[in-house]
Amino acid sequence: MAKNIVVIGGGPAGVWAAIEAKRRDSAANVTLLTDEPCEPYEKPPLSKAVLLGKANPEDAPIAGKSGLAAHDVTLKTNAKCQAIDRAARKVITDTGPLPYDALVIATGSLMREVALLPPRMPRVYYLRTQAHARALKAALAGCKKLVVIGAGLIGLEVAASATELGIKTTVIEFAPRILVRMCDEETGLYVLVEHQRRGVDIRLDTSVTKVLPQSSGHIALVTSAGDTIAADLVVVGAGVKPDEALAAAAGLATQDGIVVDEQCRTSDGAIFAAGDVTRFAGPHGLVRLENWRHGQDQGVIAGRNAAGGTEAYRPVPSFWTEQYDLYIQGAGWPPANPSRVKRPLPGKSWLLLETDGPLLSYALGINAQKDLAAVRRLIERRIAVDPAALADPNQPFAAMLKAKV
Ligand SMILES: Cc1cc2nc3c(=O)[nH]c(=O)nc-3n(C[C@H](O)[C@H](O)[C@H](O)COP(=O)(O)OP(=O)(O)OC[C@H]3O[C@@H](n4cnc5c(N)ncnc54)[C@H](O)[C@@H]3O)c2cc1C
Repeated sequence: MAKNIVVIGGGPAGVWAAIEAKRRDSAANVTLLTDEPCEPYEKPPLSKAVLLGKANPEDAPIAGKSGLAAHDVTLKTNAKCQAIDRAARKVITDTGPLPYDALVIATGSLMREVALLPPRMPRVYYLRTQAHARALKAALAGCKKLVVIGAGLIGLEVAASATELGIKTTVIEFAPRILVRMCDEETGLYVLVEHQRRGVDIRLDTSVTKVLPQSSGHIALVTSAGDTIAADLVVVGAGVKPDEALAAAAGLATQDGIVVDEQCRTSDGAIFAAGDVTRFAGPHGLVRLENWRHGQDQGVIAGRNAAGGTEAYRPVPSFWTEQYDLYIQGAGWPPANPSRVKRPLPGKSWLLLETDGPLLSYALGINAQKDLAAVRRLIERRIAVDPAALADPNQPFAAMLKAKV
């Protein structure tokens, strides 16, 4: 009998799980449930090209131009999964129950809300979905002054897009530096200066203590430094948390994320999970990753294993962010006690390379996509490297890749 494989969630993890499950078991009935009203789309353009008016969210469907149907996957939109009945092996959705033989949970992340600035407050915007992006883009059209809460990836991408649109932007960040969770101090400082050079006012070590009653169509924020900042709009980019409630309610093991093994299996052998919502074993203990590539790569493995495979997910993680003309990209696992070298590259480019003993473990590059692709292969293939050669731009990575493992 054909197997029923159900996937919950229309991000990259869910879409790739569904596509790969169908590829591995072409006889299976594969169904993807999304609570959104549309074909699943890529989120990264939402804070960049979409806000800048260079693209629409529907321009980048994750499954390709012809959608999931072209992969023989049944897509159910507006189909929020309400519960998982593990004993009966069925999911309960807004549109009725659906039986499964194997289930993949790929519910992604929920935005962290700032209590003083909740999502439904007038003039306050959050950004996670295409509906959010459309609303924010429309609001930015009439905006002269913007405050962004949070100098992480989303906050700074929004600040960069708004600045390119000619909007005077202030960023409020409670940490002493920007991009704390994404990069080292030196890179963070470089990106900070690039924002300041374009007129962005970045307030570090600062938080919002009060939102003043609004008059005259503005919103006014009082900061911990005692300043009052008036703006037309506020965008909150305060990070995300795993959307694990469904799994927890079904009694699956969770620990700030759904705990999965190497094969993406949860504590129930018939249920897999992938993407932002999972916690899994990294080289330094259990970790959770919140980036596009992890979603896609873990989704692929979860889908194949839901269809009967036994593949292991052993990622070399990577993320990127685009701000102005800067393409900042990281690859690998930062070692606990790194030795670090910097390799200058032409123009506004460089690579920071971190070794752990003889092996390259992590790299962070600015405008260094081509070199970073080679570096990633050095990490993946566990090729021993000479730190002096890494730092020397005249020593091509291609030659290092030919070295014996
Ligand atoms: C604006 C923006 C820009 C980004 N830019 C970058 C970038 O430049 N680089 C990078 O590496 N990463 C970026 N990211 C992060 C990246 O997009 C995420 O890490 C990735 O989307 C996670 O994939 P996922 O499939 O795990 O979860 P998500 O993409 O969050 O997908 C989960 C989906 O499940 C649906 N869902 C949840 N619960 C249910 C339910 N009960 N029933 C049915 N459906 C449900 C949700 O609506 C959602 O569509 C960005 C994210 C955003 C929001």
